[in-house]
Amino acid sequence: NIIKQYYMERKRIYLCLSHMSEDGAEQRYVKEAFDTNWVVPLGPNVNGFEKDLEGFIGHDMRVVVLSSCAAALHLALLLLGVGKDDEVLCQTFSFCASTNPVVYCGAKPVFIDSEPDTWNMDPVLLECAIQDRLAKNGRLPKAIIVVDLYGMPAKWNALMAISQKYGIPIVEDAANALGSFYDGKPCGTFGTIRTFSFNGNKIITTSGGGALVCNDSEIKTKAIFLATQAREKAPYYQHEAVGFNYRMSNICAGIGRGQMTVLNDYVARHKKVHDLYKKLLKDVEGIKVHDNFNDLYDSNFWLTTITVDPEIRIKGQNTTAIDGEPNPNIEALRVYMDAAGIEARPVWKPMHKQPVYKNSPAYMNGVSEAIFKVGMCLPAGPYVSDEDVCYIVEMIKRAVV
Ligand SMILES: *Cc1c(COP(=O)(O)O)cnc(C)c1O
Repeated sequence: NIIKQYYMERKRIYLCLSHMSEDGAEQRYVKEAFDTNWVVPLGPNVNGFEKDLEGFIGHDMRVVVLSSCAAALHLALLLLGVGKDDEVLCQTFSFCASTNPVVYCGAKPVFIDSEPDTWNMDPVLLECAIQDRLAKNGRLPKAIIVVDLYGMPAKWNALMAISQKYGIPIVEDAANALGSFYDGKPCGTFGTIRTFSFNGNKIITTSGGGALVCNDSEIKTKAIFLATQAREKAPYYQHEAVGFNYRMSNICAGIGRGQMTVLNDYVARHKKVHDLYKKLLKDVEGIKVHDNFNDLYDSNFWLTTITVDPEIRIKGQNTTAIDGEPNPNIEALRVYMDAAGIEARPVWKPMHKQPVYKNSPAYMNGVSEAIFKVGMCLPAGPYVSDEDVCYIVEMIKRAVV
């Protein structure tokens, strides 16, 4: 019945679409910016959005809103003193924007594999890598970039202990994790500097944007200085450092302020969608929903991810496995879902397997490559209804031979 209705209406279900508040809060803030002629990369919405974010993650935090999360990561590394030929330890299982900023600094990424419980950086491997880099180079890596992938918090207790033991700062890439918590603490507050993304496909959006989170006003002032072309205090344009044009515009920040009014509802919706997937897929053999490892973890479930047993055969499946690609049943499932009007996508391909980073050192245990072969992301968010989830699960069941 549901299936007939979906085919008739030709409705397409996307992975995660931006969704404006029902009462038009975003448009009110943007209109105000136009009405008062604050159509520039500073203004009341920029300050207001930063205050709202500080209110959400903790008033002891300082937030700087920027043009993207990649820009925030770049500034975070610069603020930590990362420069030419330094090494930065990076979580390999992530989107390229977690690693590319290392190269922007002239530094070198060194990749660390994940552990199977959270799919994030493996603390044991991290410590091995630190000791090995020290032995090989005679000095420690300059920073560590840890990701809360798909909204799932990393093993923060263990990672922070290693960071402290060796005195190497962590940058938390919380691009996916606004509204996630670890041990009762919000993601975006771990490590030394943290970042969020407000790209169009994240938990909330500013159409495109990001934020840097730091601990005090002094670092915030430095971040804003670098984000606004490092302009010195003088009546003319005086520059003593190379800066960037990375500040968020007052228009985008207006969208962000509006989105903050629905953030809690959206996070609740992502979690509800996840719970429904979990319930409906419980008895489907060979398919496992990636879930909070234990009570310390409270993911916002930006996307629900599943793993598919290689033994499961999917309709239309090609039998030949291609080296370095996901298992044939993953591609077959993606194609089957696509034909049914559902956007599903393989999980991130690990960075150490990307041609652009093929010469970077990598400390591996096989976990991210194994998940890449069997992992799939399913649609989530405020646009995905309970009925949509029922339909998606029904189509997964039908796809299995
Ligand atoms: C989206 C994303 C980013 C980059 O965010 P932008 O705002 O597009 O620069 C970084 N890291 C992860 C894990 C992401 O998913």
